Parts: sequence; C-alpha cells; structure tokens
Amino acid sequence: MQYDVIVIGSGPGGYVAAIRCAQLGMKTAIIEKYNTLGGTCLNVGCIPSKALLDSSEHYHNAAHTFTAHGIKLDNLGIDFGQMIKRKQEVVDANTSGITYLMKKNKIDVHQGVGSFKDKNTIVVTKADGSTTEITTEKVIIATGSKPSSLPFLKIDKKRIITSTEALTLTEVPKHLILIGGGVIGLELGSVYARLGAKVSVVEFMDGIIPTMDKGLGRELQKVLKKLGMEFYLGHKVTGATAKGKEVTVTADNAKGEKVELKGDYCMVAVGRIAYTDGLGLDKIGITVEERGRKITVDEHLETSVKGVYAIGDVIKGAMLAHKAEDEGTFVAELIAGQKPHINYNLIPGVVYTWPEVAAVGFTEEQLKEKGTAYKVGSFPFKASGRARASGDLDGFVKVLADKTTDEILGVHMIGPRAADMIAEAVIAMEFRASAEDVTRASHAHPTYTEAMREACLAATENRAIHI
Ligand code: FAD
Repeated sequence: MQYDVIVIGSGPGGYVAAIRCAQLGMKTAIIEKYNTLGGTCLNVGCIPSKALLDSSEHYHNAAHTFTAHGIKLDNLGIDFGQMIKRKQEVVDANTSGITYLMKKNKIDVHQGVGSFKDKNTIVVTKADGSTTEITTEKVIIATGSKPSSLPFLKIDKKRIITSTEALTLTEVPKHLILIGGGVIGLELGSVYARLGAKVSVVEFMDGIIPTMDKGLGRELQKVLKKLGMEFYLGHKVTGATAKGKEVTVTADNAKGEKVELKGDYCMVAVGRIAYTDGLGLDKIGITVEERGRKITVDEHLETSVKGVYAIGDVIKGAMLAHKAEDEGTFVAELIAGQKPHINYNLIPGVVYTWPEVAAVGFTEEQLKEKGTAYKVGSFPFKASGRARASGDLDGFVKVLADKTTDEILGVHMIGPRAADMIAEAVIAMEFRASAEDVTRASHAHPTYTEAMREACLAATENRAIHI
C-alpha cells in the first residue's frame, strides 16, 4: 500500500496530524502498537487522570463542603471499584471516538509496531509476529513518551508504581509516598489525598511545580497542605524498596541527614522519557539526544532525514497534549505547502488540582533574568463574588505586563477553573494585547474571569475595583 503520509503513534500528536493530513487531501495511514487509539493522553494520561480528579473532587465536596451549603448526606462512602470502572468507561468513550474520527477521515489504521525499513518503507509488526510493509512519501513520528525513573529505583508496578499503575489501583492507599512534586505526581497525589490517603511528597527542589512561577507553587503547597498532604522539600531520594505490603523510601534532607518514610505505595513521578524503542531509527540514520532520548528536529520539525518529521513528547519542548496537537497540525500544513506557525512561548501549562493552576508566557523569574522591566497586577479570588458564592476562595490571578508598553508578558493563576480561564490570557497574548485592552472588554458578572480583568486593571494603573 502506498501513502502520501504515514503517522507512527496515535496520541494527540499523531491522530491530529493524521486528521489534518487527510483534511488537506493526503492519503494517510496511522500505525499504533496498542489495541486502542489515543496514546498516553487518552489511555493512561490526561483523560483518566481527570476522570479520577473529578470523582475524588465530588467525594471531597460531599464530605467537607456540602454541610456549609445546607446539604445533608448520610452514609457517605467510597466505591473505589466503581470509580475506577467509570474512569475506564470515560477512556473507552474517548478512544472509540478516535476510531470513529479515523474512519470519518478515511485514514487507514494499521495495528502493530511500526519500524523503518528505509525512509519510505515502514514495517508493521503485529503481536503475533506477522508483518506487513507499507510505503510512503513522508513519515511523521509521534511515538510519545513513557514514565522515567531514577537509575537506582526499581519500579515493580505493584507497590512501587508510576502514574500508569496509579490509575488502576484496586484500593485507596493508606499512605502514598510520592517521589516528585511535579504536575503528574501532584494531580494523582491529590486524588488519593481527597479519598482519604495520607500523601507524602518527597521533592529534590525547594518548591513544588518548580518550572512554574514560584508564587503559584507556594500557594498550591498551602492548599494541598490543607488537604493533609505532607511535603519533604529539598530532599534527595536515595532508595525505595518494597517488602510485602510495605514500602520504604529513604532520602537525604538539605542538611545531609537521613530520612526514612514508610507507606503502602510509592509513586515515582520524576518525569517522562521520549519513546523510540523498536522504531529502527538507526536504519535511516536518525540519532537521539543523549539526555531524554529525544529526536532532534529543525524549526520545521523535520529530522536529519528529509521527509521524516517528529512531533509531540518524542521531541524537545513541553510534554503536553496540546503542544503535540499543535505540532501535528503544523507538520501536516507544512507538508501541504502552507506556512504554519507555533508560538511556543504561548503554550499554556496547567495543573488540574483543585484549585487549578494555569500559566502562560514569562514568569517573573524569567523576566528578571532577561532584564525586562515589568509591572505586576494581581487579584485574589477571595475578593471575587463568584468565588464567594461557590466557596472557592483560595488563589489569585497575577498579570505581568511590560512596564513601558503595557503588553501582557505572562499570566499566572491558581484558582477555580483556572485551566479554562487561561484561554483568555492565551488569546490576549496571541494578539499582543495590553493589560488595558483586557480591562476594556466586558466580562460577564459574576464569573471567575472577572479576576483576570481585575488583575489587568491592577497591572494597568493599580485601578482594580474590588480590592
Ligand atoms: P503519546 O500520547 O505518548 O502517544 C504515542 C503513541 O505512540 C502511543 O499510543 C504508543 O503506543 C505509540 N507508539 C510508540 N511507538 C510506536 C511504534 N513504534 N509503532 C506504533 N505505535 C507506537 N498533557 C496535557 O496537556 N494535559 C494533561 O492534563 C495531561 N495529563 C497527563 C496525566 C498523566 C498521568 C500523564 C502520564 C500525562 C499527562 N499529560 C497531559 C501529557 C500527555 O499525555 C502527553 O504530552 C501526550 O500524550 C503526548 O502526545 P504524543 O502524541 O506525543 O504521544
């Protein structure tokens, strides 16, 4: 079978690339080694984690905030099996939706591991060992990533687990020890904390979500502490072992003292590593970076081999589903002869704890480092009427604007529905709006989005109305 484009990997990078290629008139195939489409994001990432976040949030609210709303509940309890079953139903609905989209767009789906025979020929190997060869003009590699670990830690997938196993546990842990205070760890840690687990976070850096604006990490830590989570910051993990149902995690604290924690599960969430196993990159001369094993690409996301592109988690940049999707569209349009563009500085980062954390653009730390003169406007949710009504008083919106031109350079928020609210900031910044531009646009009342307008008012001339 001869194609214009073959996409290897069906995550948000791969399936979006395939759809856009098909929309642009290319004969397109997608290869996926798993039985279901959708990649990490739909199967063991974004979607199942959000399903569990929502379920655990409902339980937490029923247990802790319903009374304040005048709602009485007797015999509140957790049916954890049902929670996990529902999560799987959500995953199944999403992955079968991708199968439908492939059919709708007349994209051939080849199930099996794709590997290069040469730059125009891909061998698809099925689970039973049988192979087929398909040929193509162009290839888009979208093989994603897998959880990484520390060299001395053995993940047994039973007691010492990654995010993948944390999505399919059969019980709520009594004491979950989390190695790593980044996005994935904190999201799943907060799920289990809400369901009643003791959760201890051991983090090497001196703050959580260390790549985001420091103020967000501080506020999030405060909120998660209220949820009962414990933090061991500045601790270097030296080992984790499991014996029966007990795990022991050892670490050195900042003073070099030994610390030992005992629990029943340990989740290792120290990042993810690009996945290129079995692709046969060496056959066509594509090399990967030593650190992170990422495929090197140029500004057109083309590898060192002409006509072979790579997108998503398998290349440099943020490991985020929407970044992978944007790159999928970018490459498809580029192959079709268009001149697409991605503004990497405006890819938002989100943490789906509650309150949610979301950010786009430069952090204060980055602006200081660049020597850019900036002004800050911030607005706390406790001053928002909408947040008062819903009882979501933690958090704030912080807007950073250029001191001279008033152009918005960064927006950092922690609060209710921040994950959705950040879209306003992205659009404003994409159109290079000033803080004052946002203040001039009407914002429905009462909404959480008014906090964005108020923060922009504060940034413009310190003229926030409600604080
Ligand atoms: P992937 O989604 O990893 O897909 C790659 C696919 O390629 C896989 O299906 C794999 O089986 C297949 N494959 C690999 N090699 C081959 C081969 N040789 N032949 C055939 N198929 C192959 N991001 C967000 O933006 N928002 C979130 O809320 C979010 N939550 C997350 C929560 C968790 C717990 C995790 C683990 C990740 C989360 N992410 C989130 C990150 C997000 O899942 C990834 O950034 C995204 O899936 C990357 O997309 P991708 O297309 O590059 O690769």
